[in-house]
Formats: sequence, structure tokens, C-alpha cells
Amino acid sequence: MGKSSDIKLITDGKRIDGRKPNELRPVKIKAGVLERADGSAYVEVGGTHAIAAVYGPRTLHPRHLVNAQKAVLRTKYDMAPFSVDDRKRPGPDRRSIEISKVTREALEPVIFLEQYKKTGIDVFIEILQSDGGTRVAGITAASVALADAGIAMRDLVAACAAGKVDDTVVLDLCGKEDNFGQADMPIAYAPNEDKITLLQMDGDFTEEEFETALKYALDGTKRIYELQKKALKERYEKNE
Ligand code: UDP
Repeated sequence: MGKSSDIKLITDGKRIDGRKPNELRPVKIKAGVLERADGSAYVEVGGTHAIAAVYGPRTLHPRHLVNAQKAVLRTKYDMAPFSVDDRKRPGPDRRSIEISKVTREALEPVIFLEQYKKTGIDVFIEILQSDGGTRVAGITAASVALADAGIAMRDLVAACAAGKVDDTVVLDLCGKEDNFGQADMPIAYAPNEDKITLLQMDGDFTEEEFETALKYALDGTKRIYELQKKALKERYEKNE
């Protein structure tokens, strides 16, 4: 979060990309985009483009990680070196390790892991182009990819962020809003289960702003959820 005075982010009630405060960027979701993976999905949220690939349930290596009661879910979030203006140094760093962890925790509650004892389910998320909100786009993609892999799930997880720029609560921050705004709160939500599986926060909200941001983010995830279901239906219809 930068200082809000660095750059003017709201002009006449409109954001730098012309959106209203509670408007999402254009969202595109496609299920089944990779042949080799058991399940996959591609997600675009404005300038943020993510791809997710799921392998499994399959034999888990190394063997000492095997859990006799349930499948082990492993998640790997990665930003491609060419996904940002300044080349991103390839390989894991503190941020990607943290995002991989919170992504796993956001997805685990909706997967029937106990149905796949002694196996591993691997989820790979690759950010191809980054313009803010990459962790939430990755979670949205991973959830569709898991469903596409035919893994039994209680619900899908849809994710988006809300935040604050120029003292205004906004939905789905773009990169500049993320960089120069005052707060960013990514949320993952399973609508059918009515369960929030990720809530992080960078910056400050008043209690009232937090309530508005939560409402915006939950509304946003519900809209994304509909697009996730549509993508899965389209994939299914195509294969009939
Ligand atoms: N970013 C970047 N280089 C990096 C990491 C992040 O340019 O090495 C940018 C990128 O556009 C990203 C944004 O900073 O979307 C915000 O990153 P944050 O850690 O808040 O996670 P995100 O909002 O992507 O989930």
C-alpha cells in the first residue's frame, strides 16, 4: 500500500479505469485449457491473467507425506518472469510461498479429501500477466480446475478483493490501485457453504469501511461464482 497522495485514484466518483466503486473488471473464465493436466482453467480479471492446472488424485511422493485418512492437497503459486513490467526473478520467494499456503487453506475446506485417502492432489497456479489481485484470480482458477479434474467438492471457491483508494471503498483493485491505495482485502468465499475461506488485509479500514468492503467483496465473489459455473457447464456441453 502506497500513500494515497502519490496519485489521484478517484475523479468525479470514477476510478482510474472508469469503473464505479463496486464494479468488477471484465472477468473471463474457461475450463479445460490444458491437455496434459487432469483439470485446468484459465481466468482473466482485467489485466490479470491466471492459469491453473490440477494433477491427481495420484500417488504421493515423497511417501512420508502420505496421509492414511485423506488426500494431501499441495498448491504452488508462481508469477511468470514476464508477468510484470519489471522482470520478476524466477522461482519461489517469501510472497509466493505465502500465497501458495493461503491458497491451499482457501481450497481445502471445500474438497472431500477423505474420499481420496493416501493420494496427493497437486494444484499449480501460474500468473501469466499481473495487474493486481493475482492471488484471488489464482484461487478462482484453481477451484474451477479442481472441479474440471472431477474431484469431489462441496462447493466452488470464488475469490476477489475489495479495498480503499482515496478514502473510497472499492471492489477488485487493479495494480495501480493496489500500489497506491490505502487498503486491500482479498477474500475467498464458498457461496453454497456460506463460508469465507480466505480473508487477508493490507492497510487500514474503519469498522464501517470494513463492512462495506466485505459486502462488495462477497457480492463480487457471487458474480464470479456464476461465471465459474458457466465455464464448467460450457466445458461439459462441449464434451457431450
Ligand atoms: N507485483 C509486482 N511484482 C512482484 C509482486 C507483485 O509487480 O514481484 C505487483 C503485481 O501487479 C501484483 C501486485 O503487485 O498483482 C499486488 O501484489 P500483492 O502481493 O498485493 O498480491 P495480489 O494483489 O496480486 O494478490
